[in-house]
Amino acid sequence: MDAQERVIRVTFPSRIWERQAWNFLKKHRDWVANRWSSIPPAIHFENGVSIPVLGKNLELRFTGEELTGKGRGKVQKKGRLLLVPGGPDDRDRYLREWLKAQLREELERLVSSLTRRIGRKVTSISLRDMRTRWGSCSSKGRLTFTWRLVFAPPAVLHYMVVHEMAHLREMNHGVHFWEIVERLCPRHETHRKWLKQHGDQLHRYQI
Ligand SMILES: [Zn+2]
Repeated sequence: MDAQERVIRVTFPSRIWERQAWNFLKKHRDWVANRWSSIPPAIHFENGVSIPVLGKNLELRFTGEELTGKGRGKVQKKGRLLLVPGGPDDRDRYLREWLKAQLREELERLVSSLTRRIGRKVTSISLRDMRTRWGSCSSKGRLTFTWRLVFAPPAVLHYMVVHEMAHLREMNHGVHFWEIVERLCPRHETHRKWLKQHGDQLHRYQI
């Protein structure tokens, strides 16, 4: 069962008839239903939907407006409203780019505030849609994060940055690594637990 893709995958050897696979599913119906209901429902970006952006709930408004020139694709925050221009083909892209830009700005702020204390330099920050991890750090000092962290609480995002930057000092998850994390983020265990328990929520947004 894939919580992120929201599909149930049944793998069986080709010599087994499809009917048998269905029988198997039927037999384990309760287990399947149980697991399925534990997956948080998908959230589609629609007018009026509220989304958490760096810890602040914003309500989506698709204006349908086609802006030209410099204003093209420009998403605007007005109080608690997020005004997204463009037709059905463009607005998701505009919104995603805006969300990424917000996250990037916040990540840059966090990285520069931690650089002195870590004593190592970050060479670049990239955003991806990673499915199995929240972030990574290369030996060259390149940090990569999943852009979906934009939906996570700010304290969790802070922990993720501390975690990846601590790898600039320790490229492992040994005792020294966790000492560094502990020093910069004393409540790291709570945040790790949050990611374990609620991480699937960050993938609910179908965009
Ligand atoms: Zn790590």
